[in-house]
Amino acid sequence: MTLELSEPVHASSAIELSESAYRRNVRFLRSTIGRAPTFSSVIKGNAYGHGIEAFVPMAERCGVRHFTVFSAVEASRALSAIRKGSEIMIAGFIADEDLPWALSHDLSFYVFDCERLRAAAEAARRVGRPARVHLELETGLNRTGLAGPTLEETIEILSRESETINVQGVCTHFAGAESIGNYVRVRQQIERFDEMCRSLERVGIPVRLRHTACSAAALTYPETVMDLVRFGIVQYGFWPTQETRMRFLLDHGLDRRQGAPEPLRRVMRWRSLIMSIKQISPGEFVGYGTSYQATRRQRVAAVPVGYYHGFSRSLSNLGYVLVRGRRAPVIGLVNMNMMMIDVTEVPGVEHGDEVVLIGKQKRRTISVSSFGDLTRMLNYEILVRIPPEIPRIVVA
Ligand SMILES: *Cc1c(COP(=O)(O)O)cnc(C)c1O
Repeated sequence: MTLELSEPVHASSAIELSESAYRRNVRFLRSTIGRAPTFSSVIKGNAYGHGIEAFVPMAERCGVRHFTVFSAVEASRALSAIRKGSEIMIAGFIADEDLPWALSHDLSFYVFDCERLRAAAEAARRVGRPARVHLELETGLNRTGLAGPTLEETIEILSRESETINVQGVCTHFAGAESIGNYVRVRQQIERFDEMCRSLERVGIPVRLRHTACSAAALTYPETVMDLVRFGIVQYGFWPTQETRMRFLLDHGLDRRQGAPEPLRRVMRWRSLIMSIKQISPGEFVGYGTSYQATRRQRVAAVPVGYYHGFSRSLSNLGYVLVRGRRAPVIGLVNMNMMMIDVTEVPGVEHGDEVVLIGKQKRRTISVSSFGDLTRMLNYEILVRIPPEIPRIVVA
């Protein structure tokens, strides 16, 4: 008899995406921006770690049909996941060589300098169809964007290239709408954007679709919600900062309302399992070096997730996970592929038990921001460090 053996497929951890949580978030964000503006789902950074291929069809089922990516390579991944009729907008990097590809797939993209604009016109001539562009205006972030002489030159080029360049939208990005510390700078950007749009219209450039708001701007500065909103972190159920959350709750009178439900639901749940358990005696060290010494008889468990998998080494002796609905602290240094946890206080703990790294288990929850509080890392950075190889599974 021959054994039929398949290749190993069981990953040491998995990420569940909750469709019902996402649907709620979309409904909540819709209710804050109203019906008219286009909801663009920002899926750069592998959909903030959620996985483009799993996330995009789920978002479409929840009514989202517009996606923003950073690069042409991400656009190509999104393209293989979307349904016919959904739109993709590239807000950042495209090599000139890839512009004809972008045009031939009807993707729209940002133009923020004259080189890109000329290359787009050239690509349009080659492909035989106009480039659909968004003019990114420089309003104060001083990253990418058109202003001053560059904007004047853009206007000149556009007047010659009306056959090859189709201006779809006009946009900008704010310099930190998630902190009141940037209030004056953001207000100035809003005013500058409005002025610049008016002057574009005066010279005959159509300003059809205006868009400026990211998550924090849409929640904190309602006037930045124009014809389209680029929702990144908030659609995944995370506030850009605690400050944005408090501001929003205060502005909407939700801070004092007894039992008002938290408006956002976390979409992601990251789970692994206990790989091995052992007993150790007082005085013994756990892991490399001497950073953790047992003070009593303890039960310790190995979890097959380490900094290779995006679980930060700075959570060594600091972070915690959930096992059987209880908090189990990370003890010793987080290794490349494993970490040790203290399960002494987890009754009945066994080999193979589920371990939750982010998300809910029974009545307890671990939030990404608790990681952040412990390590001073940003929500955004923690999420995108979760490697693409970890399987993403959509659950109801
Ligand atoms: C990342 C990004 C967004 C989304 O930002 P969030 O804070 O995650 O909502 C919007 N617009 C641009 C241009 C971006 O780069």
